[in-house]
Amino acid sequence: MPLPVESSPLHIYFLFVSFLFGTIVGSFCNVCLCRWPAGESVIKPRSRCPKCNKEIAWYDNIPLVSWVALGAKCRNCGLPIRWRYPAVEALTGCMFLAVYMRFGMTIASPIYMVLGAALIVVTFQDFDDWTIPNEITLPGIPLGLALALIAMFFGKNWGLRVNDPIDAILGIVLGGGILYLLDCFTVAILKKPGMGFGDVKLLAMLGAFIGWKGVLGTLMIASFLGSGVGIAMIAWFRWRGAAQPAPPADEPGENGEEVTLQGHYLPFGPYLALGGLIFLFFGPELIAWYLTTLQGGSKIEILHM
Ligand SMILES: [Zn+2]
Repeated sequence: MPLPVESSPLHIYFLFVSFLFGTIVGSFCNVCLCRWPAGESVIKPRSRCPKCNKEIAWYDNIPLVSWVALGAKCRNCGLPIRWRYPAVEALTGCMFLAVYMRFGMTIASPIYMVLGAALIVVTFQDFDDWTIPNEITLPGIPLGLALALIAMFFGKNWGLRVNDPIDAILGIVLGGGILYLLDCFTVAILKKPGMGFGDVKLLAMLGAFIGWKGVLGTLMIASFLGSGVGIAMIAWFRWRGAAQPAPPADEPGENGEEVTLQGHYLPFGPYLALGGLIFLFFGPELIAWYLTTLQGGSKIEILHM
């Protein structure tokens, strides 16, 4: 990785700037998270307090700092400011820092910083609103493909994960295709509501940025994480159920229903986003590890994708 010498003042300066810039972009992510689900523009009006409608001054809008300085309250009316605002800012700051540490002084770094921020928005909006923003996935698909195409001619040393438009196209088709078919299957055969088209577009977009191997890796990681959390949640609901006084033996619970996850919406987008990020950061190592394990520990050179 082309990094300035570790612990040199320049290196530390770039780490600091990455984090700082990340918190500013995180502040914009918060605007997207507030306005996209409501169908509002993220550019035009300045931010206002939702209660007293007073425009928020620039000095009350400094990432992380203002939230602490204001004591998590609106300066004018005292409305509590959600913890999610500083959390998204800090998380995006850490994302930018991590991307810089991984990709260093390459063209890939700013590109993957933006991708990382986009995936943070996807994650929070899916948890909150149960939707995945088209504002990200629809431009993201052609953007990833265009980058792979440009990189094929000019960007072999840009540090991008995908330098081949064929790989990006395969990623889009495979990513979108697998989830689309899975969705059709769920609706047609299991007669259950599908995962939703947002996930289809999200994995297609990830495919454009990390290629077809990335799609398979992302699906594996996301399913693993998703089932791990799912099992933990079932255990939690069971435990909570057991902690309450047990109903008489002939009356199995209220309305006779068992404690299950049915009816609880479990968004898959956050797991796809996290899986995609893990693959973005550690893809070559994961593939090498997978191949080594598959071939019984035979020596394999680290693949350069
Ligand atoms: Zn207010």
